[in-house]
Amino acid sequence: MPRVIDLRRPAAVWKEQDVIEGRKVDTFVTIFLTTGCWWSAKKGCLMCGYNADSTPKVKEEHLQAQLAQAMERYDGEAMVKLYTSGSFLDEKEIPLSFREEVFSAFGDAERILFESRAEFVTPEALDGLDRRSQIAIGLESANEDVLRQCVRKGFTVNDYQRAAEALASAGLPLRTYLLLKPPFLTERAAVEDAVMSIAYASKYSESVSVNPVNVQRGTVVESLFRRGDYRPPWLWSLVEVLRRGKAVSECRLMSSPSGGGTVRGVHNCDACDRKILEAVQRFSFEQDLAELDGLECGCRDEWTALMDVQGTMGTTVDVARHLSNELEFD
Ligand SMILES: [Zn+2]
Repeated sequence: MPRVIDLRRPAAVWKEQDVIEGRKVDTFVTIFLTTGCWWSAKKGCLMCGYNADSTPKVKEEHLQAQLAQAMERYDGEAMVKLYTSGSFLDEKEIPLSFREEVFSAFGDAERILFESRAEFVTPEALDGLDRRSQIAIGLESANEDVLRQCVRKGFTVNDYQRAAEALASAGLPLRTYLLLKPPFLTERAAVEDAVMSIAYASKYSESVSVNPVNVQRGTVVESLFRRGDYRPPWLWSLVEVLRRGKAVSECRLMSSPSGGGTVRGVHNCDACDRKILEAVQRFSFEQDLAELDGLECGCRDEWTALMDVQGTMGTTVDVARHLSNELEFD
């Protein structure tokens, strides 16, 4: 049965915590149901299934109704995060008049974070933009080949750099998302790629957030996963990336994995997933590497061996899954 989508209801609303200039603050998050990401409609990124939360039927009046519903749950949180499945600065997705409406609705918020692809972050677009704006750009990887072949991002590292420089000139903070373990990379290559990307992106960013791939419905990554040719990253890899990344980062480093501890998300084993995810969350707020000390589990040896084996074999195939027919994946 086809899913019935209520165009007047936001895709999701929740509350969490985030950080403004080192202060932990209450944060209000809304995902607007929009017409979606233009790139997703054309080719799309290999890991992204967010177009499930979009439909060409959405009109401005629907966005207004979604905003009204979201406002019912808003309690004056200092930070507001507004997600769409695409770009908040794409005027085809978020009309300029609606953008203004959103900024005035959240008149009490100190900071309003939203996401945009790099091509919409231009000096012209930033001219006159609300001073409370923080823009998040998914760079995913600072390696041009990885970005093109393993992510299919549809923009280049140079495009990101131009966007970052425009934000710096406008005096607006940038949060950069990096992807941990796009497809076709070994576990070891993925760790190296993320650490290198942190060193690069942190020069332009107020914060860098490392997003371990989670396997989303209807994506190229999902078809690889179903064949046993893709395993989401190990939590040990994320810990390693945060450790080594912190040493080379010039800004705040964080990670808030979606689907962490599940077979489709970043995971180790049932015995240690929760403990390590909690440590990652504490590190993300405190910025203290000591939070990542003393994490031990028997599965670490398996990860260490994999890091070595994959280096020699040059394979990204999920070896363990090919050797097992007992596991069920859904
Ligand atoms: Zn474990």
